[in-house]
Amino acid sequence: MTVKVHTFSKTFRIRIQGRVQGVGFRPFIYRLATEHKLNGQVENRNDGVVILLNCRNGELEEFVGRLRATAPPASFIDSVHAEQVENISFEGFEIVQSSSVSDTVTEVSPDIAVCPDCLEDMKTQANRIDYPFINCTNCGPRFTIIQDLPYDRAKTTMAPFEMCPDCHQEYTDILDRRFHAQPVACARCGPSYLLHTAGDIISDPAQVIRHTVRLLENKGIVAIKGLGGFFIACDPFCEDTVTRLRQLKNREGKPFAVMFRDLETLQQCALTNEPEEEALQSLKRPIVLLKDKGKLAPSVNNGFDTIGALLPYMPLHHLLFEHSGLPAMVLTSGNISDEPIMIENREAGRILGRICDAVLTCNRDIHNRTDDSVVRIVHEKERVFRRSRGYAPIPVKVSRQVEGILATGAELVNCFCIGKGNQALLSQHIGDLKNLETYGFFTESIEKYRQLFRFEPSMIAADMHPDYLSSRYAQNHRLPLVPVQHHHAHIASCMAEHGLDEKVIGVALDGTGYGDDGRIWGSEFMVCDFNEYRRITHFEYMKMPGGDMVTHEPWRMAVSLLYNTYGWDFHRPDLAFLKNIDKHQIDMLCQAMDACINAPLSSGAGRLFDGVSAMINLCTHSRFHAEAPMRLESVADENVTEAYPFRAGKTISFRPALDAIIRDLCQNQPAPVISARFHNTIVNVIEQTVRKISDTYNLNNVVLSGGTFQNKYICEKLENRLFQAGLNVYSHESVPANDGGIALGQLMIAAAKRNNMNHQ
Ligand code: ZN
Ligand code: ZN
Ligand code: FE
Repeated sequence: MTVKVHTFSKTFRIRIQGRVQGVGFRPFIYRLATEHKLNGQVENRNDGVVILLNCRNGELEEFVGRLRATAPPASFIDSVHAEQVENISFEGFEIVQSSSVSDTVTEVSPDIAVCPDCLEDMKTQANRIDYPFINCTNCGPRFTIIQDLPYDRAKTTMAPFEMCPDCHQEYTDILDRRFHAQPVACARCGPSYLLHTAGDIISDPAQVIRHTVRLLENKGIVAIKGLGGFFIACDPFCEDTVTRLRQLKNREGKPFAVMFRDLETLQQCALTNEPEEEALQSLKRPIVLLKDKGKLAPSVNNGFDTIGALLPYMPLHHLLFEHSGLPAMVLTSGNISDEPIMIENREAGRILGRICDAVLTCNRDIHNRTDDSVVRIVHEKERVFRRSRGYAPIPVKVSRQVEGILATGAELVNCFCIGKGNQALLSQHIGDLKNLETYGFFTESIEKYRQLFRFEPSMIAADMHPDYLSSRYAQNHRLPLVPVQHHHAHIASCMAEHGLDEKVIGVALDGTGYGDDGRIWGSEFMVCDFNEYRRITHFEYMKMPGGDMVTHEPWRMAVSLLYNTYGWDFHRPDLAFLKNIDKHQIDMLCQAMDACINAPLSSGAGRLFDGVSAMINLCTHSRFHAEAPMRLESVADENVTEAYPFRAGKTISFRPALDAIIRDLCQNQPAPVISARFHNTIVNVIEQTVRKISDTYNLNNVVLSGGTFQNKYICEKLENRLFQAGLNVYSHESVPANDGGIALGQLMIAAAKRNNMNHQ
């Protein structure tokens, strides 16, 4: 016989923090509580979602368990905190209207790929058949349309569209998938597309799709308004069209991204493994760098062994594929060369209209510009290279109070960062500030973040380089300014991402960064924390004949390395790359180096890669940022295990390695072998140097940062080696290793500085 124990119902207060607003969290809680037959209420607060619940202890556990396990796909639960409070007896369960939202951060959701339910509705729901702006609480635009908080339709670019009675019914029905889905819309009341062709404007929805498809299938090039900006599409199997697009866009060498109709089709053109498939299909839908099978038109990736592939994320993409026989389309940013991706209809019509066969616009405005994000899977983990749509503005939780700090980032690959409480909000990818339009995007975005996140800066952190436009911007504000050394910021950024706040061994390898001694740094081995850093060693300085010109003409670095190793004897007939370059020009270059005219010193790892890439004739002239190192990596033969010798003294000298490379070249060793041996040398150098520092300073945490660590070959081999050596290795994952991640490091270093000032 069982004894019936009577337990009194208690009242619990459950507070959930994380990304829980604008992602259908309250209706989810409502349904969960109703299913469990529990009474209470749920409410959106500034600092998260708060539930009051009448239940017993066991029921509470079950409820919280289910809550964690079945939360909406776009939400992210940071913490669930439950405590018993004074008894309040509820009848039923209800959603309480939000009280005030003050200046505390409420997480803004990034944009989310269209969900399977909406794709189904697009086939069956009368007012949404083939309707390209369909969305629900689990999917659709977010950050790109949000103008202000709290997240409410009136404060988005959906405001001009008045809901029809059907949409309103769904919006207000708590049991509906579209309950409080702010961008809710249907064919009757929502936004629509217009196709502008040479002589016509097409507005009939079916005709718009049909005509766009017909153009794409027949060698046409079409500009299409996406979530965060305009994109340009064309057939990736047609070499003529892809070449034409390159000319029109003034983009010579850089690979184009390709969107595939589905995963199966994608797998016919690229190799994928499980984590890569997961990334491709994630709600963020980034461009994923994959091993190419060589099926696409050669001009798509111009000889690289990888392609940037992605799957459809907007309802429109699905429609275009459904109504066409196209297996895939090139989908590249709608801009000319290095300008930011375009967002305005008129501008796109004026500029893209001139180069494309048609422009597909829509009447929903884009408020926050975001390009497609780019990731690569290394060691089964996602590494973000370009952080934009789907990722921004997800905050990084950091170990310090960073409120009120603005970090302005670097210059060439700019992202800025603002501090709210103990969260760092890294902006979406901005780009090269030297471009005037991009600089405008930078200043305008800082203003938008100030408004959206109620951010008032009281301190600015910037790169130590006095002439970076991001530093100049910082200097022009009358606020305490913290100049931060570039490579220290790189390491601090990776530390922040992994929640490290202690002394570490930092290895920062990149192309260029301003050093303490006024020279160009870029191969830095340091011992550091957020407060300070000590430069332990670095690669030997190299002369950069022509200064910044070397980044466009890597052959200059090859000549510099050879000349400084062999003197005038380096002119060997067996060096193929020398044949492409005017002999007179080479002589002048050497004389200039002798006289130290326009030949600044650099320890940038990127410059060494440039030199070797040119030396083995892979890339003597570079058409886009970091092309030479990327080509060098692209050919490396994974099966080669040998490495070249090097000399480690006060600095690290690659002269013995260069000697061996020249020998290999004279013996006609193929480029894939030489490249692999060179890469293996870099791995050896880093491993040995780090081991030495670890012994001397008794440190076990190794932090890797800087653009060079986007090199998959080096990353995989090095992470394995350091791990085998018993060291803890930290590499970038959700924050870019390149200069796009720098602002986060600047922010942390400024926070440490402020903390020290306050305690003096
Ligand atoms: Zn949906
Ligand atoms: Zn409607
Ligand atoms: Fe850098």
